[in-house]
Amino acid sequence: MSVRAAYTIGIDIGGTKVAGGVVDADGTIHARARADTPHRSTSPEVVENTIVGVVEDLVAQVGQGQVSAVGIGAAGFVGADRATVVFAPHLSWRQEPLRDALFGRIGLPITVDNDANASSWAEWRFGAGRGESHLVMVNLGTGIGGGIVLGGRVERGRFGIAGEFGHMQVVADGLRCECGNRGCWEQYSSGNALVREARTLIAANSPVADDLRARVGGDPTRLTGPLVTEAAQAGDRTAIELLADVGRWLGVGIANLAAAFDPGVFVIGGGVSAAGELLLGPARETYRRQLTGRGYRPEARIVAAELGNDAGVIGAADLARIEASPSRSEPVSIDSESQRAASLTAESTVDPGAGRSVGSGRWWRRRHT
Ligand SMILES: [Zn+2]
Repeated sequence: MSVRAAYTIGIDIGGTKVAGGVVDADGTIHARARADTPHRSTSPEVVENTIVGVVEDLVAQVGQGQVSAVGIGAAGFVGADRATVVFAPHLSWRQEPLRDALFGRIGLPITVDNDANASSWAEWRFGAGRGESHLVMVNLGTGIGGGIVLGGRVERGRFGIAGEFGHMQVVADGLRCECGNRGCWEQYSSGNALVREARTLIAANSPVADDLRARVGGDPTRLTGPLVTEAAQAGDRTAIELLADVGRWLGVGIANLAAAFDPGVFVIGGGVSAAGELLLGPARETYRRQLTGRGYRPEARIVAAELGNDAGVIGAADLARIEASPSRSEPVSIDSESQRAASLTAESTVDPGAGRSVGSGRWWRRRHT
């Protein structure tokens, strides 16, 4: 293997912040930087300036020549070319050629991916999914984000948009969703769903919401997901019940995903997963009751994510490392024999970019060497 820089940079672009880290081959973060995400009304150039600023800050911390590639994880639809952000709800990007725009300013190989794909990859390589060949990640934030790692590679779909689990319909003619449809999963299992139900009880002056009402001084608009989790962990029965509802709906959707993907593990991330067993216990119960072929098949484990808010940065950096590797046909180092066996059986290689059109890899080499 040729000598190359030890680090790659991962950038996680969310609705409120741009977080960056310098990451080594073991998934350890050695330097950090962050900036506020520009408002969605600002031009794409302003967002790019922010990203470039974070990258320059990070390179300055570890020294020029120490970084071999930059991986971007963005909240939005990333095209199958891994170069274009097709649509980002929190940003001004519409068909934005992000990879080429950033390459022109940063001068390092750039990879672009969906943020949940990056998080899923990080949990599979270094977190709660270590040792499993097939992983499905479900991130419960304000909505639901998802990612799929099958046989050692990220499954992105034909058009790059796989894993949008939040908009699977779980209730016919159910609650209206921002996407325009009704009954989407994230309307029932997400931070927004948790807060909506709690606020309804507070606003209705329900006696079961006395504890929650006291926590927000009677003002339902001050209620947040973390406050409900805090109340539940302190023993408030209503908060426990509200989290259990979200957990049961989580189990419904996970049983559907098991029917489609048959993973060995479901990794549950996002802010709501901080509730731990208060969420996951009811999810497991419902999952077992609704699983197709229950009693006649192995059951996937349902576990909390381990890398927290760092998953997006670590995953984006690691995907960039693999993409920039001079010998992409080599498997990356794998933690367990079972993963190695699974990946060898499936593909002979661990290749997160497999499935793209032939020759689309190493674009910077073709064009710039
Ligand atoms: Zn929807």
